[in-house]
Amino acid sequence: MTNISSDVLIVGAGLAGFTAAVRAAESGANVALIDKSNGELGDGNVLMASGSLRAGGKSPRTNPNELYDFVMAEGVGYPDLVRAWSETCGRAVDWLISSGVKVDESSPGRVWLDQSGEVSLAPIYKKDVGTRALSKLKERFIKFGGHYLSGVEAEKLLVENDCVCGVSGTKSGETIELRSRATILSTGGFSANKEMVKRYIGPHADECKLRGSKQDTGDGLRMAIAIGAKAVNLKYFYGHLISRKALVDEGRGDVAVANELARSEDVTGAVLVFDQESWDAAKDDAFSNLVKTPAPNPWLADNDGEIFSDQAVAGLAKTIGVDQDRLTATLNDYNRAVESGACHSLRVARTGKPKVLRAPFYGLRVVPGITFTMGGILVNGRGQALKENEHPISGLYAAGDAIGGLMGGYRGGYTGGLMQAVVTGILAGENAVRL
Ligand SMILES: Cc1cc2nc3c(=O)[nH]c(=O)nc-3n(C[C@H](O)[C@H](O)[C@H](O)COP(=O)(O)OP(=O)(O)OC[C@H]3O[C@@H](n4cnc5c(N)ncnc54)[C@H](O)[C@@H]3O)c2cc1C
Repeated sequence: MTNISSDVLIVGAGLAGFTAAVRAAESGANVALIDKSNGELGDGNVLMASGSLRAGGKSPRTNPNELYDFVMAEGVGYPDLVRAWSETCGRAVDWLISSGVKVDESSPGRVWLDQSGEVSLAPIYKKDVGTRALSKLKERFIKFGGHYLSGVEAEKLLVENDCVCGVSGTKSGETIELRSRATILSTGGFSANKEMVKRYIGPHADECKLRGSKQDTGDGLRMAIAIGAKAVNLKYFYGHLISRKALVDEGRGDVAVANELARSEDVTGAVLVFDQESWDAAKDDAFSNLVKTPAPNPWLADNDGEIFSDQAVAGLAKTIGVDQDRLTATLNDYNRAVESGACHSLRVARTGKPKVLRAPFYGLRVVPGITFTMGGILVNGRGQALKENEHPISGLYAAGDAIGGLMGGYRGGYTGGLMQAVVTGILAGENAVRL
C-alpha cells in the first residue's frame, strides 16, 4: 500500500479543487490535489463550461447585500454560507485575474472566462474555456510547490479521534492512503450517478439526459454522508430542456421547468409548444455569435431534433400524439388569459411575460438535461462540512458542486456553478490552511 501525506488534501481537480489547491499552496501549505481521471486537468464539468461568471444572474461585483437577499429569497439557502458567498464573489473574480486566468467583460458587469476557442457541437459545449483557466491555475499550483496526482480515486474518508485525517482509495487497482491535516472534497455533484439521481431528484429522473461530465458520480457526497455529514437541497439541479432525440408555468424559466419535469412520471414525454414568432426569434443572433454556440433555429431541425409544425393546433396535437380537443382548449384558454391579463387565474397560473401564440404552431419533444446537481454536503461560511447538528466535522471541508446550501428553490435558484466553485474553493482553501 502507498502512503502519501500533506497538510491539505484536495479530492477532485475541477475548478473548485484547483482554486482551493492554489489558495492553500499560496499560503505556504504542503498541498496534494488528486483526481480519479487520468487527465492532466481532471475531467470535470469545468472542461465543458461556457464560462459565464454570473452570481445569481448578476455581476459578481454586485453589492453583497443585494446578492445575499437575492439568494435567500429562494427560501432554501443557508445564511452563513450565502453571506460568505455574497461577500466573496467580487474578490473571487479579482483573484482569478491575479492568478493569470484571462477574464473578458463583454459589457459592464457581464464577466466571462476568456471566450476565444472552439465549440463541440453534439453535445454542445465549449472546448477550451475551462481548459485554459485550469491550465493557468495548475501552473500557479506547481509554482507554489503543489503536487498533482491523476488516476487516484478516493473511496473513503479516514477518521481518527473524531477528526477526518485523509482518504483511502485506489491508484491503478492498488490501495492508496493519503493522510492530511485537512481534507477538501471537491468531487463535483452526482448528475452522472443514475441511482442517486433517482433517489434524490425523482423516481423516474434517471431518464433525464446528462449534460455534463461522466465523472460526477457523487463520490464526495457519499463519503461525507457515510461519516455523518448533513446533505441539503438534493432534489434541485441546474439543467435545461433539451431536444429529445405539459403544462407548467414556463415563466419561472427553463431551469425550474426542467426540475419539475424531472420529478414527473413521464420525464421524456413533454413537448414544448410555441409559435412562428418564437421560432423566428430563436435564429442566429448577436448573443449566439458572441458566445459562439449555435442558435436553435435552424440547428435543431438540421440535426434531427424532433420538431413538428402545423397551421392548426389540432393538426399539431395529432402529430405529437396528444388529445386534439384538450390541446386546442388549453391554447384557447391560455391566449384569452394573456389578452385579458388574467394569466394568474389559469388552471396552471403563468408568471413571467407570457405572450399570445398564433399559427403556425410548433412542437418540440424535450427532455430535462441535468448539467449539475445543486445540492450536496452542507458547509458553513468557512467551507467546513457540517454534521447533522450543523456543527463542523473536524478536518473536513467541501467546495464546488459537491456542496449544498447555496442553490435550489422554486424558480430554479441558480447562482452560477463557476462562481460557486471559485468562491467555495477560496473559502475552503484559505480556512483549511488555518486548521
Ligand atoms: C456544458 C456545461 C456548461 C456550463 N456552463 C457554465 C457557465 O457558463 N457558467 C457557470 O457558472 N457554470 C457553468 N457550468 C457549470 C460549471 O461548469 C460547474 O458548476 C463547475 O465547473 C463545477 O466545478 P467543480 O470543481 O465543483 O466540479 P467539476 O468541474 O465537475 O470537477 C469535479 C472533479 O472531481 C473528480 N472526481 C470525482 N470523484 C472523484 C473521486 N472519487 N476521487 C478523485 N476525484 C474525483 C472528477 O474527475 C472531476 O475532475 C457548465 C457546466 C456544463 C456541463
